[in-house]
Amino acid sequence: MAGPQTMFDKIWNRHVIVQRDDGQCLLYIDRHLAHDGSFHAFTMLRQDDRSVRRPQQVFATPDHYSPTDVRTIDAIENDELREKVAILDENAKEFGVPHFGIDDERMGIVHVIGPELGITQPGIFLVCGDSHTSTHGAMGAIACGIGASEVAHVLATQCLWQSKPKTMRITVNGTIGFGVTGKDVILAIIGQISAAGGAGYAIEYAGSGIEQLSMEGRLTVSNMSIEAGCRMGIIAPDQKTYDYLEGRPYAPKGAEWDKALAYWKTLPTDDGATFDREVTVDGDAIAPMVTWGNSPENVIQVTDVVPDPAQEPNAERRESMLNALDYMDLKAGMPMSEVAVDRVFIGSCTNSRIEDLRLAADVVKGRRAVVPSMISPGSTQVKAAAEAEGLDKIFADAGFEWRHSACSMCVGLNGDSVDPGVRTASTSNRNFRGRQGPGSRTHLVSPAMAAAAAVTGKFTDVRQLMEEK
Ligand code: SF4
Repeated sequence: MAGPQTMFDKIWNRHVIVQRDDGQCLLYIDRHLAHDGSFHAFTMLRQDDRSVRRPQQVFATPDHYSPTDVRTIDAIENDELREKVAILDENAKEFGVPHFGIDDERMGIVHVIGPELGITQPGIFLVCGDSHTSTHGAMGAIACGIGASEVAHVLATQCLWQSKPKTMRITVNGTIGFGVTGKDVILAIIGQISAAGGAGYAIEYAGSGIEQLSMEGRLTVSNMSIEAGCRMGIIAPDQKTYDYLEGRPYAPKGAEWDKALAYWKTLPTDDGATFDREVTVDGDAIAPMVTWGNSPENVIQVTDVVPDPAQEPNAERRESMLNALDYMDLKAGMPMSEVAVDRVFIGSCTNSRIEDLRLAADVVKGRRAVVPSMISPGSTQVKAAAEAEGLDKIFADAGFEWRHSACSMCVGLNGDSVDPGVRTASTSNRNFRGRQGPGSRTHLVSPAMAAAAAVTGKFTDVRQLMEEK
């Protein structure tokens, strides 16, 4: 009889079709999400005269290139963007793949609509040609980003060769405090283990601090696993997961739901199962976080000062810090709460779900943005839900731009970008040089912290603004 197993091992082992002598496993893939950057893979299929093996297990949506100001292909003015969005539409039709086009009410960022539509479920193996596919692990699934040729392989065979990563459990103890969100939790984790700390591992997030988070908060945590160098970040399904999923369009129904639920309840890691590495994080100590450099590991609490490279003993790291401070135009020792921002972006697959928008609206209500601020909801459904609650009105009254759904200013492929030298408080996941546009300066924060920056014009401890209400 098998000994205690981790959740990761249980799901992985169930998907192994065959294992080679070198350890590589051929895995069965349950769900495959495709976006408008997947055109190379469809071209490869066409060149090799192949079809899509299981088209009903593939779901496509044009999130990367869709502009946020229009909702039909014909209305897209930019020729390149229009072509990218149209090509996915054509590929989906030709290969028989379900497609949530720019004008479809189910359209949105792949990592938002997967859970939202119930496509992402516990126990499945899900892939997508995008590194933030780790997001879906929050539902108790193994999910990872894959390259273009792997996308073509999965389309053609519904299988994928992978080597099994080692396992790491990150246990967040204690209680997550007032004004602290899933974004702050994952930034604190990356600050602790570094941007390379998860390399070679699949992470399981556990502990009271993770259990306490909503599904939206957990999705944010798993989303940024890749920023810790790890391709897969999984969280055990629990009642919150089941409540979130029940009734969603692609979730099982009736007897199938009961059967699925019985299986999902077997997934959590067994008592006594061992991990290759264990990390403990003090959840009580986590505060609202802000990044100061060009890696998500360059992160401090909003109440801290910008770190001093002179205090860094490692020469390579010291050089990297100096370069980051130069690029970000910051000085060591500056209180982060005195750093002025030029603009604010709330969106991306990290933080654009309904709870994120509610948190931001709570902060913004009755106040005015003092810098240009923009919101791109994570999906058309999130946008509709927010409008039904009147959140769009709160944001409009505060002077925010209320746009349509897309990846938008997270990466700037759709034309929503940040100008050179402009400092942005952004709810996205990458603060690399030029990520939001050449020369752009990105600081990663939670939606509540982004809202606080919008109404004060600087990085402000959102807990103060929340207490004032
Ligand atoms: S929102 Fe950003 S990180 Fe997420 S899928 Fe789009 S481009 Fe990638």
